[in-house]
Amino acid sequence: MRITRVQATWCHVPIPPERQHVSDFGRVGSFDSVIIRVETDTGLTGWGEAKAGVGSAAACAGLAAIVNLDYAPLLVGQDPRDISRLWDVMYNTPREGYAVSLGHALPQLGRRGLSISAIAGVDVALWDILGKSLGVPVWRLLGGRRAERMPAYASGGWADEAGIGAQLKGYCDRAGFRAVKMRVGVMDGSPARSAARVRAARRALGPEIGLAADAHGTWTVAEAKAFCRMVEDCDLMWFEEPVTADDKAGQAEVRRSSAVPISSGESEFTRHDFRELAELRAADVLQPDLAIAGGITEGMRIGAIASAFNLRLAPHLWSGAPAFAAGLHLAASQSAGFILEYSLGHNPMLHELVEEEFPVADGMVEVPDRPGLGITVREEFLQRYARTA
Ligand SMILES: [Mg+2]
Repeated sequence: MRITRVQATWCHVPIPPERQHVSDFGRVGSFDSVIIRVETDTGLTGWGEAKAGVGSAAACAGLAAIVNLDYAPLLVGQDPRDISRLWDVMYNTPREGYAVSLGHALPQLGRRGLSISAIAGVDVALWDILGKSLGVPVWRLLGGRRAERMPAYASGGWADEAGIGAQLKGYCDRAGFRAVKMRVGVMDGSPARSAARVRAARRALGPEIGLAADAHGTWTVAEAKAFCRMVEDCDLMWFEEPVTADDKAGQAEVRRSSAVPISSGESEFTRHDFRELAELRAADVLQPDLAIAGGITEGMRIGAIASAFNLRLAPHLWSGAPAFAAGLHLAASQSAGFILEYSLGHNPMLHELVEEEFPVADGMVEVPDRPGLGITVREEFLQRYARTA
C-alpha cells in the first residue's frame, strides 16, 4: 500500500450568536480545525485532525500549509502502515535516516508548536488507515479496549455564581453525566470569586457528582495556591492548568501546596514535555490533546509515562470528531485511561462533520466497534466550511 495524496483543509465553522459562550478566550465565534485526508493506492482513505489552538477558534492557515507543503512531499509514495517510521521522518527530516537507524531523535527547529500539531494530524489519519486496512477499530491495534463503555464528564461551566449550579445540573440532567467541569481563572477577577462559584456549584450538585475546575493556565502561582486553599473542602476531581504551561516548576509548587489534584497537558507537545511534567511531580492527571501533542503514536508514549509515574490519563477532547475518536480509542486502551472529556460548548466539528455520533447515555460513551477511527467524514460539510486564508 502506498500514499498517493495528503490534503489538509482548514475547516472554519461559524457559531450562531445564541450558541456562543464567553471565557478568557473572549466571545467564541467559530470552531476551527485542520482536517487531514490521506489517500492510498488501494482506495482506502484515512482522516486526521490537527489543531492550532486549544479552544474552539484559531487561525489555521499556517498549520494546513505545513502539512500540504512540508510533509505531504515526504509522505507520498510511502507505506502508510509504517507509522512509527513516518513519525520520525516528519520529526527529523533531513536527518530522518540517522533517527530511524540509530534509534534516537535528531529534530530540526520544529520540536514544539505547529510542526508537531501537523505531525499529529497525519499520524491520526495513518492509524485510521491501518485500522480500516485490517477491518478492526484503532483500540484493537493499541492492545484492546478495557471496557465497552467509558465514563465521560461534561465540559463547560461558564455561568456566574448565581447561575453555575443550574448550568452544571442541566448537563447532568441531559445525558446523565456523573462528572462535570467548570471554567475558573482570570475571567472571574480574583481567586475568591472563582472559589465562590465553585462552592455554589458543589452546593447545587451535591457530594456525588464529580466536579473539576479549569483555569486555562491564567493564574500566577500565588493566585492558584490561594484558590486551592479556598476550595480544599469542595472535593474537586481536579484543578486543571492552574498556571501557564511555561511554568512547570510553578505548577509543581501549586500541587505541593494543597491536597487538590492537579491536571494539565493540553498545551504540551510530545512525550518530552509530559516526561518533564511527571518528573517535576507537577500533575496528577495528564491531558494530552492528540491533535496537538503528536497523535496516537505519541499518545501511547505519554500514556506509558502516566502509568509509570502512577499518574492518570484523561485526553483533552475539546475538538472535532477525528481527534475525539483518537482520544477515545487511546483512553479505552491505556492502563492509565479512566475518563473522557465531552464538550458542552457548541461543537459542529464533533456533531456535524461526521455521519456517526458518540452518544452519551447514563454519563457513558460507547467505545465503537467500527474499523479505524470509526468515523465517516461528510465531505460536503468539509467543503462548505473550507477556508484558505
Ligand atoms: Mg482545559
